[in-house]
Amino acid sequence: MKFTRLIKSDFLKHMMITIDVEPFVCTSKNNMHYDASYDGLKNLIDLFEDLKIKSTFFVVSEFANKYPKIIREIVNVGHEIASHGEFHFHKYSIMKTIEAKKFLKKSKKTLEKITRKNIIGFRAPQMKHPSYNVLRECGFLYDSSLHPTYIPGYYNNFFSKRKIFKQDNIFIVPISVAPILRAPFSWLWFRNMPLLYSKICTNSCLIDLDFVNIYFHPWEFVDIKTYNLTKLPPKFYIKNTGKDLLKRLKVFINYYKSKAEFLTIKDYLEL
Ligand SMILES: [Zn+2]
Repeated sequence: MKFTRLIKSDFLKHMMITIDVEPFVCTSKNNMHYDASYDGLKNLIDLFEDLKIKSTFFVVSEFANKYPKIIREIVNVGHEIASHGEFHFHKYSIMKTIEAKKFLKKSKKTLEKITRKNIIGFRAPQMKHPSYNVLRECGFLYDSSLHPTYIPGYYNNFFSKRKIFKQDNIFIVPISVAPILRAPFSWLWFRNMPLLYSKICTNSCLIDLDFVNIYFHPWEFVDIKTYNLTKLPPKFYIKNTGKDLLKRLKVFINYYKSKAEFLTIKDYLEL
C-alpha cells in the first residue's frame, strides 16, 4: 500500500483471516447458541497461536458482555477486536439513523471497556451496514461489510469495488472474491468447495491486489451437531465444520505463510 510497508515487511502480499464472533443462530433470534461459538473461539485462538498469525475478530458486543474474559485473552495475544454491532439480528441498513448511532456507540463503548483498546473497525451483522457517514460519526475508521459479489436474496454487489477505497473519510475494506466471476471463498464456500477452489480464488485475488480478506465464524470450528440443536440447519450450512475446517484452514494458512504476511486489518491499514 504505502512505501513504508515495503521496508517494514518482507512480504508484498497480505492475508487477513477475519472472524465474525456471534452466537450460532439456528432458526430464529430466539434460538441462539452461545456455547458453540465460545468453544469454537477457543479452538481458533489455539490454531492462530500454533500458526503464529494475527487476525481481526469482529465481535457482537452482546457476546463480549457474556464472555469478557475470552475477548480480553484475544487482545492479550495480539489480535484485533473490532465491532460486529450490538446484536446480530440488527439490520443497520434499514435502521433509523438515530437508532443505528445508539447501538453502534454502545457496541464500541462496551468493547473498549472490555479490551481497554480503541475500537476502530466495523463489520455489520449480515453485512447490512449503515451509511459510511454514520459509522464515521460513531468513531469508526474502517468498515469491512462489503462483499462485492451477487448472492440472490443476500448481496447484490456484483459491480462494487474489490480494492480498498475511502468514502466519507472511512476506509472500506471489501471481503475478497475472485476477479471477473466474483466467486466468494469465505466460510461456507471455503468449506463446501475443495481446498483447491479457495487456493485458485486466493491466487487470482493476489494478481491485481496485494491483500486477501476472508471471514469465518467461531461455531464453524466445532461439531455443531453435538450442541443440542432443536432443528438442524441445511447440510451445506454445516458441512465440513469442526475438526475438518480446523485442519483445512491450517493447511491453507501453512501454504500461504511463506508467501504472505498474516495480519490484522488495523495493521494492514497502518491505523
Ligand atoms: Zn455475522
